Amino acid sequence: MDRGSSVGSCGIPTSRPSDRDTLGFRIEYKREPLGGFDPTRTTTADRFREEIMPTLLLIAFLRAGPGCLFAQRSAAPSPIIDVHLHAVGMFYRPDGTPPPRVCINQVPECGNKPSAFTTDDALLQGTLTLMQRYNIVLGVVSGEDSVKVARWLDGAPHRFVGGWMLDGGRSSPQVARLRRAFDSGRYSVLGEITSQYDSRAPDDPALEPYFALAEELDVPVLIHTLGFGAPIPKFRSALGHPLMLEPVIKRHPRLRLYVENAGYPFADEMTALMIQYPQVYADVSTITWIIPREAFHDYLRTLVRAGLSRRLMFGSDQIIWPETIETAVESVETAEFLTAEQRRDIFFNNAVRFFRLNPDTLKAWE
Ligand SMILES: [Zn+2]
Repeated sequence: MDRGSSVGSCGIPTSRPSDRDTLGFRIEYKREPLGGFDPTRTTTADRFREEIMPTLLLIAFLRAGPGCLFAQRSAAPSPIIDVHLHAVGMFYRPDGTPPPRVCINQVPECGNKPSAFTTDDALLQGTLTLMQRYNIVLGVVSGEDSVKVARWLDGAPHRFVGGWMLDGGRSSPQVARLRRAFDSGRYSVLGEITSQYDSRAPDDPALEPYFALAEELDVPVLIHTLGFGAPIPKFRSALGHPLMLEPVIKRHPRLRLYVENAGYPFADEMTALMIQYPQVYADVSTITWIIPREAFHDYLRTLVRAGLSRRLMFGSDQIIWPETIETAVESVETAEFLTAEQRRDIFFNNAVRFFRLNPDTLKAWE
């Protein structure tokens, strides 16, 4: 691991229970015999470790309060770039309550809980809080409503790059309007392209003018091309096959394309695409928190073993749950098969190269 973990300012350990805490005690959680009596526990140190420490930690947690939900780390972590965030605005269920996080198969790390941030302003502030905590110095943010995206761009100008969300349908802008948006410097990324939600393949003729524009202006493109998405009627998993991007790449060989979730779960097809077309990059975003962590690690390991670690980028796909940023970072941090260099590449270096950023101009969090 190349990033620090310690006890946070609120007294809550940010490390895992099996790690050593700052008091030097190894915290272990034993199954107690019925009745709570364990004849093997004989020393004072044992009693402190097994009875008193957990109680102190519980008290610290209960006293922490909502402001300490995200404990601070003692060491400044290395910078991260999040290439996939959304400013979609808060939405609620028919009964007026905020939706719980979506997780496939009840992923334990997810908890299926609603976010602690349940208004538009709180989503922005919650996202910035998490970005600061993990030293995420820059995020690519897109949304269906340009007013909401503008609020994020204006709310934290040094933190966000604007992406134009597009499905290729009737609500998509005229190409001339999009050209003006890129020319103005207000937007720097085309995407997320969500045509798969509208039953449209990546090589659908409706998208062609937009790809042509992005290639002409040298604008990076993020596309949702993978086997799953939100369960809406027009979504088609079959249209997420990564090789469906091949005709687009053939027509636009200079297109700076990055693929959401590295095409999960089509590892073979994604590997073929990325080896054949070195200009193609990919992010690891939703799969860092929506599928079981083991499944994410298996997928990431497959791509890294195929030699693609220098073209995978960190993303969170934060939608209305800023907490997913924390889970996303942890998912990459806990991938023990990554070398420190590979982890740095995924968190930062690959995005610097792909987006042609000058790291010296990225503003550090104070
Ligand atoms: Zn997304």
